[in-house]
Amino acid sequence: MAAPFLPFALPEIGDEEIAEVVDCLRSGWLTTGPRTRQFETEFGGFLGGGVEAIAVNSATSGLHLALEAIGVGPGDEVVVPTYTFTATAEVVRHLGARPVLVDVDPETLNVTPGAVEAALSPRTRAVIPVHFAGLACDIAALRRVTEPRGVRVVEDAAHALPSTTNGEMVGSLASAATVFSFYATKPITTGEGGMVVTRDQDVAARCRVMRLHGISRDVFERYRAERPAWQYDVVAPGYKYNMPDLAAAIGIHQLRKARAYRQRREQIALAYDTAFAGLPVQLPARAPAGDDHAWHLYVLRLAPAAPVGRDELIARLAERGIGTSVHFIPLHLFEYWRSALGHAPGDFPVALAAYQAAVSLPIYTRMTGGDVERVIEAVRELLAS
Ligand SMILES: *Cc1c(COP(=O)(O)O)cnc(C)c1O
Repeated sequence: MAAPFLPFALPEIGDEEIAEVVDCLRSGWLTTGPRTRQFETEFGGFLGGGVEAIAVNSATSGLHLALEAIGVGPGDEVVVPTYTFTATAEVVRHLGARPVLVDVDPETLNVTPGAVEAALSPRTRAVIPVHFAGLACDIAALRRVTEPRGVRVVEDAAHALPSTTNGEMVGSLASAATVFSFYATKPITTGEGGMVVTRDQDVAARCRVMRLHGISRDVFERYRAERPAWQYDVVAPGYKYNMPDLAAAIGIHQLRKARAYRQRREQIALAYDTAFAGLPVQLPARAPAGDDHAWHLYVLRLAPAAPVGRDELIARLAERGIGTSVHFIPLHLFEYWRSALGHAPGDFPVALAAYQAAVSLPIYTRMTGGDVERVIEAVRELLAS
């Protein structure tokens, strides 16, 4: 009998999450309220305190809010790696600004300070480094390039919970904002959701107002404040980006397991690294000594000498019941971005080559030791020359 299909990703939801959602349903308060407030407080504490955390309904909306809060608008440029998910760049367009794509480092697949510096212009308002696969960009080095030019840094940390750079947690640094994702496949999940964190009080205040219609105080506060419940002001045409308590109920318990989840994913990554060391592949970059990699993704790159191509490897793994994915199809290869920004495939050779060679293997906490062995055996069998 064939082994059951091993999906590429699966969330791990425990009894605590289920009980909290049931309590939330019974409480009568489903939308943004006490559980969202608790999740925000505990998330800030998880990052070491001293940061504002603003819960939203996705990382995409969080990135949109953060860019809006720092004043990105028509005529501005925002530097974005081409090796990312389309959400990183689409929010720039939502504000009428122009994403300026840059290539990535061939080892880490992260943006480099040098590439960002070369892309800066008098119109550059911000840069969005993406912590690819959960391996943190060196934000301190990046800020040495951006700060003298007055360019703000908004970190796309969708993969990076938890991870560290120069010993400090991603999300605790002095960027304009850092945005995490709680999409179903991400390091922790609320089904859909995200968190904006910042040390900048002005950015925090603007994000809080704009995530709920531009209303100057959120619903929960309105109903608790001294003033009459019906009274509020609208200070801008805001968005509907708030996180409901139903989602925060899941997030509160996911967050408490985030470190254990990371450790389990790191174990899987180390097992893969050991098993694949002799194969015609490029292993994923490790974090520098002393830093933590979140290991949201395990991206193997096939060497030219590999006996099968990337597409064939994916098809053969699927025949063996193993789900995989590809991270990422570079933005400049998509019809919209290619034509909107005027790019050819060869414009970013590192990203193009990485994409053509990359396969993301399953790496999640619900995998058993047997599941990991199964992936290892299949990959070794298909790639042994
Ligand atoms: C998943 C992802 C996002 C978007 O996250 P959502 O919570 O689904 O909006 C943004 N950037 C990167 C790099 C991602 O992988």
